[in-house]
Amino acid sequence: MPNRLTISELTAKFARREVSARSATQACLDQVQRVDGRIRAFLSYDATDALAQADAADGALTGGATHADKPLLGVPIATKDVIAVKGQPLNCGSKILGKFVSPYDATVIEKLKAAGAIVFGRLNMDEFAMGSSTENSAFQVTRNPWDTARIPGGSSGGSAAAVVADECLAALGSDTGGSVRQPAALCGCVGLKPSYGRVSRYGLVAYASSLDQIGCLAKDVRDAATLLGVIAGHDSRDSTSVPQSVPNYAAGLTGDLKGLKLGLPKEYMVGGLDAEVKRAIEAAVQQLARLGAEIVEVSLPHTDYAIATYYIIATAEASANLARFDGIRYGLRVDGADPIELYARTRGAGFGAEVKRRIILGTYVLSSGYYDAYYLRAQKVRTLVRQDFLRAFEKVDALVTPTSPTAAFKIGEKADDPLQMYLADIFTISCNLVGNCGISIPCGFTGSQPSTINPHLRLPIGLQLLGKPFGERTILRIAHAYEQSTAWHKEKPSLLAPSP
Ligand code: GLN
Repeated sequence: MPNRLTISELTAKFARREVSARSATQACLDQVQRVDGRIRAFLSYDATDALAQADAADGALTGGATHADKPLLGVPIATKDVIAVKGQPLNCGSKILGKFVSPYDATVIEKLKAAGAIVFGRLNMDEFAMGSSTENSAFQVTRNPWDTARIPGGSSGGSAAAVVADECLAALGSDTGGSVRQPAALCGCVGLKPSYGRVSRYGLVAYASSLDQIGCLAKDVRDAATLLGVIAGHDSRDSTSVPQSVPNYAAGLTGDLKGLKLGLPKEYMVGGLDAEVKRAIEAAVQQLARLGAEIVEVSLPHTDYAIATYYIIATAEASANLARFDGIRYGLRVDGADPIELYARTRGAGFGAEVKRRIILGTYVLSSGYYDAYYLRAQKVRTLVRQDFLRAFEKVDALVTPTSPTAAFKIGEKADDPLQMYLADIFTISCNLVGNCGISIPCGFTGSQPSTINPHLRLPIGLQLLGKPFGERTILRIAHAYEQSTAWHKEKPSLLAPSP
C-alpha cells in the first residue's frame, strides 16, 4: 500500500521501479474513498488532474529524472484550503468565496510542482484559519482518526487528519498561532512551523499577516525536512520573505544530540496542563537527556500575556485583511439596494460566527480612542514576549515544551466557549508572536496509565521543540534524534486497519 509509506520510503521504491507514481496516487485516491466518509478531511479533490500529474511524473521517471533533482517526483501531497492552486477551488473553509477558482499557483505550490510533487485535494480547515478544532469550517466537521467522536485540532485539522489517515503522503497547512503544530499533536503526526520569512506567503490567503506562515504536516521528521527544503526560500513576490539561502535540512539529521542545550520553560509545566500530557513530556525530556542533550530550566516571564496579545493583534490584522471579501471582488454576492447594503448582506450571509466575532473585535481594537489602549499596547507586549525568547535562546539551542495542554477533546465540547478554545493555543502562540520556528512530534499516548477513566482510549500527545529564528536545522535534528529512538510515530489508528 504505497499510501501508507513515508516520502523517503516511497521515493526509494520509485527509484527501484517497484511502484509507479500512478499506483501511488491511485492508492491515495482509493484510501480517500475508503476512509474519508468517516474522517471528512477533504473538501474536494480532482482525481483526473491528480492522475494526469502522476502520468507526467512516471514519464519523467522513465526518462531518467531522479529524486536528487526533483525530491518529490511522483509524491502525492494535499493542501489546506487556504493556499491557491491554479484551476482548483479556493474557499478557506468559508461560504463567502462561493465558487471561486484560483487563477494562479501560490509560490509553495509552484515549488512543489517544480520538485515533481502531485498536488491534489483541498483539505478542511476552520474558516479563514480561525480556530483550534476545525469545527468552524462552513462545510463539515473533520474527525480525529484515533477517535471519530473527537476533533482533529485546528485550524489545519483536515491536513493533519489526512496525513494520519494515509490519504496523502504529506500536506501543507498554515500556522498563525499553532494551526500546524496543534493538529499534528492531536492527530499524531509531525507538524513544522517555519520561521517568519522562511517560506513565501504569496498565494496564502491572509489571516494575520505578521503571524502567518505556511508549514508542513508529515509522517516523520525526515519527510518534514524534505518538504521544508522544497518550499523554503526567498520570493520577490513576498516582501517579508527573507533572502537567506536554504540549507540541506535532510542532510542535517545526524541522529545525535551531543553538545546541545535544551531549555525547559518553567511557566509551561503548570496550571491547566493535563496530567497524562505532563507525564509524557517529562518522559520525553528524560529521553532527550539520555540521547546526550543538556537540559536546563529557563523562564519566559510574559507567558501569561501571550494569548491576550495574540487575540488583539490577530483580530486587528484579520479585520483589515478580510475587508476584501465585499461581494464585488470575489465569490458570493447578495444584492442590496445600494453598495453598502450589498456589502453588509454579503458579509452577513458569507461569514460564520467566529469570523464575525473577530472582525468586530479587530475593528474595535483599531478604532480611534481604543487603538492606544489595546493595539499599541499589544504591540509593546509582543516585544516583551519576543525579548523573553531571545534571552532564553542566548542560553539554549532550543526549547522543549508540550504542544497542547490536553489531548484531542470531544466534538462540541468547547464549541460554545470561545475563551476555552483560545486557551488550546497557550504553548504554540508565542512562537508566532516572536517569529521563530517550532515543530511538534509524537511523544506518547493517553490511556497508558491504569488510573485513567477510559484505559482503552489511546489519543496522541505531542512534544514541541521551539528553535531560534531560522533555527530549523537544529530543531529538525533534535526531533529526528528523538523520533528515531522511540516508536510513537509508527503507531497507526485501528480505524485504518487494511480491510481483509
Ligand atoms: N487557534 C488560533 C486561532 O484561532 C490559531 C489559528 C492558526 O494558527 N491559524 O487564531
